[in-house]
Amino acid sequence: MKPPICELCGEDFRHEWNGEEAGGGLVQFADYRPLPSGRMGHPEGLAFFCSRHLIEARSLHTLTLSEALQRMQN
Ligand SMILES: [Zn+2]
Repeated sequence: MKPPICELCGEDFRHEWNGEEAGGGLVQFADYRPLPSGRMGHPEGLAFFCSRHLIEARSLHTLTLSEALQRMQN
């Protein structure tokens, strides 16, 4: 699993993150694929967003992660 760093702007909210919604949150996108059990790493289609970008990211969760990032950069 990646550390809590915003996928869009790179804001690092590790110091605030408590596994829930402090400083930002996790969003699952249309291309989300859970990791096979016992495998380490970061699942596809799952990303952290800081509190400034979380609401917009959640509203785009029906897209794939890369499509959502493209939309948010525009
Ligand atoms: Zn951000």
